Amino acid sequence: MGSIDTPTITENGSTQSQAAAPSGGDHKPPASANGAQMEVSPEPEATKKRRSSMLPLEVGTRVMCRWRDGKYHPVKVIERRKMPYAVPYDYEYYVHYTEFNRRLDEWVKLEQLDLDSVETVVDEKVEDKVTSLKMTRHQKRKIDETHVEVGHEELDAASLREHEEFTKVKNIATIELGRYEIETWYFSPFPPEYNDSLKLYFCEFCLNFMKRKEQLQRHMRKCDLKHPPGDEIYRSGTLSMFEVDGKKNKVYGQNLCYLAKLFLDHKTLYYDVDLFLFYVLCECDDRGCHMVGYFSKVTSSAFLLLDAVEEKHSEESYNLACILTLPPYQRKGYGKFLIAFSYELSKKEGKVGTPERPLSDLGLLSYRGYWTRVLLDILKKHKGNISIKELSDMTAIKAEDILTTLQSLELIQYRKGQHVICADPKVLDRHLKAAGRGGLEVDVSKLIWTPYKEQS
Ligand SMILES: [Zn+2]
Repeated sequence: MGSIDTPTITENGSTQSQAAAPSGGDHKPPASANGAQMEVSPEPEATKKRRSSMLPLEVGTRVMCRWRDGKYHPVKVIERRKMPYAVPYDYEYYVHYTEFNRRLDEWVKLEQLDLDSVETVVDEKVEDKVTSLKMTRHQKRKIDETHVEVGHEELDAASLREHEEFTKVKNIATIELGRYEIETWYFSPFPPEYNDSLKLYFCEFCLNFMKRKEQLQRHMRKCDLKHPPGDEIYRSGTLSMFEVDGKKNKVYGQNLCYLAKLFLDHKTLYYDVDLFLFYVLCECDDRGCHMVGYFSKVTSSAFLLLDAVEEKHSEESYNLACILTLPPYQRKGYGKFLIAFSYELSKKEGKVGTPERPLSDLGLLSYRGYWTRVLLDILKKHKGNISIKELSDMTAIKAEDILTTLQSLELIQYRKGQHVICADPKVLDRHLKAAGRGGLEVDVSKLIWTPYKEQS
């Protein structure tokens, strides 16, 4: 999978402000605000004064920050906190590297920041000439909030919540799940009593989570689950897929959502798990079935309700709401397996499916790869003309997704008011090679499943 776990921007990531601020070994650490630091060549008094007048930095400040690669990158301050026993101005800052994915947001110390590169306009959102620098943080917050209201007046409550979520600081740093300790990527709204723990311990079977290792050990002696609750609908070799009905397994569904949000950005967490089916993929051994990843899907009955409200045609529906492969299992083809599985279910339902938007960055990459391989495989084997509708019927992929995929591969021409697929075998081969292989195949003969709406 073309994962973008670590940013590749290093040399070419330099910006104008970076060019202005020297990077590398000769970079002078910023003077500490209390003046305790001895400088070899004393700084001009004016510079020192200017620096200490900036501290502590405001939330929203843009500045260059030394990253783990030793180089300076532009960041935006998202939050700050006072260090315990701190001298005045001794704060830590939670920063977002503007060139990188949000999963790399982190707490940094003042000495990692290059105060000479502080942009004097604190935040383009609250930009208000010079006065913005003199505002208290409280005032700034207020303006920020007002701005959000004004600037996003077209957004509904859910999108606003999502916007707020986006700016949140990561709360849980690591989790223990089965034999893995996993670093988290994003904020997840655990109940308030868990907010003071940096690490949480999950039971890998029922997904209950605890603050202490001893609690988990005690739990494991009592917990009688050895696999996700629900029905095993697929087994091939050591791989199993379980269908978990959120209505029948509320606590499991909620736990799964809390866990998943740690690795998913831009998704509002659904507390109302009643409406969802969860398809949990496991690797099984003699100790039990260990969760690898999952996808969720709105139940057909919930769709009937939605369809009634939105007067939508129900032959076409979302066949996937959230998708996640847990970090220890990534880049092994499981993401594509989950996607392929969701389409196999759609085929059994006799429907065309598409994932709910927005997709995460990794999700979109996986889908692009899946669509490309499936469509090009058919085009390669097929003799004569084939329409997008026929492709859609064969694959359960929505026509729009087929069109955008083929367009991005430049295999579509618009002739006499119609989209025509132009597939030169040599071009197909080149694209197929670039798309890589799909990894794990879904063996449809091993899928034992009746569509949900037909169940009693
Ligand atoms: Zn358990």
